Amino acid sequence: MAPVTTTQRTVLAGARVVLPSGVVDGGRVTVEGTRIASVGPALGADTVSGNGSGPRPDDVVVDLGAGHLVVPGFVDIHNHGGGGASFTSGTAEDVLKGVQTHREHGTTTLVVSTVTESMDFLVRRAGMLSELVEQGDIAGIHYEGPFISPCRKGAHDESLLRDPDPADVRTLIDAARGTAKMVTLAAELPGGIDSVRLLAERGVIAAIGHTDATYEQTVEAIDAGATVATHLFNAMPPLAHRAPGPIPALLEDERVTIELVNDGTHLHPSVLELAFGSAGADRVAFITDAMDAAGFGDGMYELGPLRVEVREGVARLADTGTIAGSTLTLDTAFKRAVTVDRLSLPDAVRAISTTPARLIGLADRTGSLEPGKDADLVVLTPDLTVTAVMRQGTWILHP
Ligand SMILES: [Zn+2]
Repeated sequence: MAPVTTTQRTVLAGARVVLPSGVVDGGRVTVEGTRIASVGPALGADTVSGNGSGPRPDDVVVDLGAGHLVVPGFVDIHNHGGGGASFTSGTAEDVLKGVQTHREHGTTTLVVSTVTESMDFLVRRAGMLSELVEQGDIAGIHYEGPFISPCRKGAHDESLLRDPDPADVRTLIDAARGTAKMVTLAAELPGGIDSVRLLAERGVIAAIGHTDATYEQTVEAIDAGATVATHLFNAMPPLAHRAPGPIPALLEDERVTIELVNDGTHLHPSVLELAFGSAGADRVAFITDAMDAAGFGDGMYELGPLRVEVREGVARLADTGTIAGSTLTLDTAFKRAVTVDRLSLPDAVRAISTTPARLIGLADRTGSLEPGKDADLVVLTPDLTVTAVMRQGTWILHP
């Protein structure tokens, strides 16, 4: 019989810890291997009793210091690139470089988003990206386009847009070999409702976005199975009092989760407050919608086939000036949520980790600091700057 071996544990102590039950000052998170072994208010006072979860002599105790904060790793379900790398056109090595950049900013779970390209291109791309999902480097694929409205195309190449024919939707799902998590589409286009039904049947999120739908068309899409609003407010008709459009339909239905880009450019803080107040933290997912320049810098970039200029951190199409994704990282979104939007720490954590994790079916693995889940966590200074990141028990940034 093999001898029983125990893994040395890391105990993060002395910080404020944001748990599902609330914020604990002087709290503790004990990590064993890739998982969280226990969480608790102080050394020796475990929430999980027995089974050797109390302190051990060989525990490595990391005293983080009072005022520092430990929160669950961030979960980004809409992200096109970072660190100078594009998730739509870069090599596998480039994709991993972009993922690493976002990890260093606290994102431990990332769904890679593509932009509109030809069907052939996207099928090939899905083959490559699905390998990275299977290796555990990324959490899935989100196809943003090509099934979107030319009226609300944003930074997508109009010549490559197409109606959401369910056969094409099926082709993209199959190309991803079970790793497609979400498809953003304009459900008012021909084939849109059937495509939403197909996605729902296949367990892939149908997300309403880049849409010119009316209120009624949006309600029909939600009834058909759409469950996400892709960057609510951006790339859709604004709310008007006699022609409400998609925004109130998406906000008012409890089946729908709202993506918000909290970078101070995509949304005015008062609009974010309105949406958050309406949907609540359990129905909001903060996303970056980041492009290559995130965590990298100003300059000229490509977003799929289009040229983008990034100036002072704002990405715009070089030709038209249309906003072309963001240069946001989720640590900045988290800091804004707490300092500008005045969200409570538990609400900010829900919107940046718990809710998106649940949405993509990973609630049993990540999205909160609970025993048995992956040790995905972020340590922040009292002024909410990331100082350490752990992913599946391994330090990405050491404290
Ligand atoms: Zn996007």
